[in-house]
Amino acid sequence: MAVVQSLKSSGYSCELVGGCVRDLLLSKTPKDFDVCTNALPDQIKKVFRRSNVIGRRFRLVLVRMGRETIQVSTYRTQPRLRKSRHRKSAVSKKGKVLKDNYYGNIEQDAKRRDLTINALYLDPSDMRIADYTNGYRDIQNGIVRVIGNAKHRYREDPVRMLRTVRFAAELDFRIDSRSLQPISKMAELITDVSHMRLVDEISKLFFHGNAQSVFLLLRENGLFAPLFPAYADGYCDQIDDESVTWLDLLFQETDSRVRSGQPLSLIYTMAAILWFPYKRLTAQKMKRKFWDSASIAQNVLLRQKQSTFLSKEQTYRVQEIWRLQYVLEQQSGDAASISRQANFRAALRLLELRSRFSEIPPEVCKPWIRFRKQQKRKYYRYKRKSRKRKFQSWTDRRKFQPMLASAAILMIQFVSCRNQLNCCTNPSTASSALSRFFIVPSLGVFTTNHSLSMQCVEFVRR
Ligand code: ATP
Ligand code: MG
Repeated sequence: MAVVQSLKSSGYSCELVGGCVRDLLLSKTPKDFDVCTNALPDQIKKVFRRSNVIGRRFRLVLVRMGRETIQVSTYRTQPRLRKSRHRKSAVSKKGKVLKDNYYGNIEQDAKRRDLTINALYLDPSDMRIADYTNGYRDIQNGIVRVIGNAKHRYREDPVRMLRTVRFAAELDFRIDSRSLQPISKMAELITDVSHMRLVDEISKLFFHGNAQSVFLLLRENGLFAPLFPAYADGYCDQIDDESVTWLDLLFQETDSRVRSGQPLSLIYTMAAILWFPYKRLTAQKMKRKFWDSASIAQNVLLRQKQSTFLSKEQTYRVQEIWRLQYVLEQQSGDAASISRQANFRAALRLLELRSRFSEIPPEVCKPWIRFRKQQKRKYYRYKRKSRKRKFQSWTDRRKFQPMLASAAILMIQFVSCRNQLNCCTNPSTASSALSRFFIVPSLGVFTTNHSLSMQCVEFVRR
């Protein structure tokens, strides 16, 4: 609201747009608030001191308000409305939009958005909604519909296919047939998208509590294999029933963690998703005499890097989780030192999942779970002790003890003289009651700290 008001008072038009309006209409709590305006990025920046312009393909201003960051974008228009020279730099040969920084009015902006349900504009000052694409009707009917020609829009930005699927799963909506049909034919375009952006999308797809239904839609529409290319080649013979059961189990676990508010980890999810291709490739190589599990892991991860970004550290951690599977399975070595390894908890979670999948007998997993529980108990005991020690060291300070004693006596006497004070109508009777019941007996304690005693007396008198 503050962002909208500031922009309006600077003479610009401004509305809330996108997911927040959609969620408010569906009585859900918005994840974030997006604002759009006719002010240009530099003009927005002048209005807000704590803001910065980001993005090349799509310039946005991030405005910081207290702890929150609000995305403010300028109304956009189609790149093709401009001269062909500009169009060349804005659109690739395949039709992908490289730059989306051509500014227009609110109606043109609505046409640039991905889905009708995401193109509603709410003016918070009068709570009026502007709808240029029949998004309100689609929300009421539970339909996810791409704005404009779906094929063209997916070619402009293939991530829109993932967004269509995500919102259908998240809101439990049906995808309009014209928006759904082209997806399976165009799914391969996903590989052209920036690898960083895809990592971000993967988190959004699987970490919002609907991973199972997202997975089903991704699979049905051929989007899963381009996202995880190791499933698309010989390693895994496509997504067979066994892999589907494995992934279903994983996403079921992810959803239940979201519901119970437990933290989620991209590294663990990646390690678990890619466990199957890794396992299959290992089985293939084991038939030959010489095989090296580290190089197999690297092969699978290199394949994954062709679609999504994985940093060196992330790659290393996924490999560690896989390596630890063999260590944990063998049940030899010093349990304490194994448990101190950075990826032990993630590795144990994967081991548990494998045991639930009946890939390994439960006896392999149980001792580790017991050990982990013991460790947890020890850790909490240690935590409790250290908290107690901290408290004790604080109470040991010289000032604290008389203060604590004074406070205790204060409380007891306050309760005992409260009734007397309640009966007193005359201030002098009140003060004599105070001195009889409160000040005089306290003197013994308060003499050690006179200023403190006076503060306490003043506090009670007031
Ligand atoms: P969420 O609830 O996940 O935040 P959202 O719809 O708000 O959902 P954002 O990523 O915050 O998603 O995007 C804000 C708005 O920007 C969207 O509602 C949509 O109108 C527009 N938008 C986002 N991505 C695209 C895209 N690839 N193409 C066109 N418009 C997009
Ligand atoms: Mg949003």
